[in-house]
Amino acid sequence: MKHYRVVIIGGGLAGCSAALHVSRRGAKVALLERGRCGAQASGVNFGGVRQQGRHLAEMPLARRSRSIWGGLRELVGSDCEFVASGHLKLACSVKEMAELEAYRATAKDYGLDLELVGPKAIRDRYPYLGEAILGGSICHEDGQANPRLVAPAFARAARRCGADIFENAPVINAWHDGRRFVVDVGRECLAADKLINTAGAWGSRVASWFGDHVDEDVMAPNMCVTEPLPFFMKPALGVCGGSIYLRQTLHGSVVFGSGLGIADRDRLRARPLPAVIEEGARKAIQLVPRLKNALLVRTWTGIEGRMADGLPVVGRSLNVEGLFHAFGFTGHGFQLGPAVGAVLSEYALDGDSTTDVTGLSINRMVHGHVHQHISCPLHHTA
Ligand SMILES: Cc1cc2nc3c(=O)[nH]c(=O)nc-3n(C[C@H](O)[C@H](O)[C@H](O)COP(=O)(O)OP(=O)(O)OC[C@H]3O[C@@H](n4cnc5c(N)ncnc54)[C@H](O)[C@@H]3O)c2cc1C
Repeated sequence: MKHYRVVIIGGGLAGCSAALHVSRRGAKVALLERGRCGAQASGVNFGGVRQQGRHLAEMPLARRSRSIWGGLRELVGSDCEFVASGHLKLACSVKEMAELEAYRATAKDYGLDLELVGPKAIRDRYPYLGEAILGGSICHEDGQANPRLVAPAFARAARRCGADIFENAPVINAWHDGRRFVVDVGRECLAADKLINTAGAWGSRVASWFGDHVDEDVMAPNMCVTEPLPFFMKPALGVCGGSIYLRQTLHGSVVFGSGLGIADRDRLRARPLPAVIEEGARKAIQLVPRLKNALLVRTWTGIEGRMADGLPVVGRSLNVEGLFHAFGFTGHGFQLGPAVGAVLSEYALDGDSTTDVTGLSINRMVHGHVHQHISCPLHHTA
């Protein structure tokens, strides 16, 4: 049986980043991906690289991730179309402006600078916005990237550093035999000192093989994209409450997300819903009226793990030493993914991480019930 220092189950962005960070330290690592790296949520998401509005328990990860996003070209050989175009969160009422102001003050403690934009400046700077907008908060260092490119780029970089990346390699079962982890891929088994579970919406199933039982639901954010339009919109847009979010790609297409489609995790299928698309288009036009003549060319969704309190599980197993989980990202794992891999590599190789992820521990959920509810008013998808 081939023996590795670390085996990783799941080749989304979290797993591919973990493989890269482990292999960069010279440790022998294998990543096992059921299909192709980045083919699930990591490859089909909205592409928002947003720290603004993150729950404070995620903020240390989000901050670390942002510094990795800025150095992608050096790290993986491509910038994956990451641009710090800014993220503008919009308010339609005085109450929402007050929420943005309160969040700005708190985010400052984490080193995140947000600029509040009042009623006059919002019209002057973003003349394409609809009338209902009163103001907003912009995070200049947030931005967007092309999700299709990112996880595969991390996987290729990991391979160059010596990682064994196995695609079309579904893990059927895994266990600890008292000395090491044994990972069953059907045709063979691999052995490992440490095991990382980055199986996305299937992460809780892998966790349950080791007695770590938590409820993980699925969600399928509804996405649409227009034909390419002349470039007019630099920052990605969101609104308080998160009911609509938009960005214009470098090629001119406007991508927007709103509401949820449906996902079947067992059959690996997800689809957007027509009524949700229609409602999303209505909201997009309300926010950016010039979209009313744009042609919608495609809609899609993906299969994303969702935890009851809206926060992912990141950290040590409850039951088995040497096992580390990162799953259930509830719409936030694209921005967080690069740092998640770095943190997992530290857990696996050093026993601890320099980034504080205590608020994301699996301990907060036992027997499938959230027993410590963490709430944040500005917390939503993408
Ligand atoms: C439509 C949509 C829009 C989103 N928009 C944003 C956004 O704008 N910004 C943001 O930050 N986040 C966004 N997200 C969330 C983000 O995409 C995810 O949180 C993130 O990609 C999760 O990465 P992951 O590596 O944990 O999971 P995944 O990308 O799902 O990867 C998990 C992998 O594990 C594999 N796997 C599972 N079980 C096994 C097994 N037994 N054996 C082998 N392999 C296995 C799967 O095949 C899969 O490839 C969005 C998600 C969706 C679906």
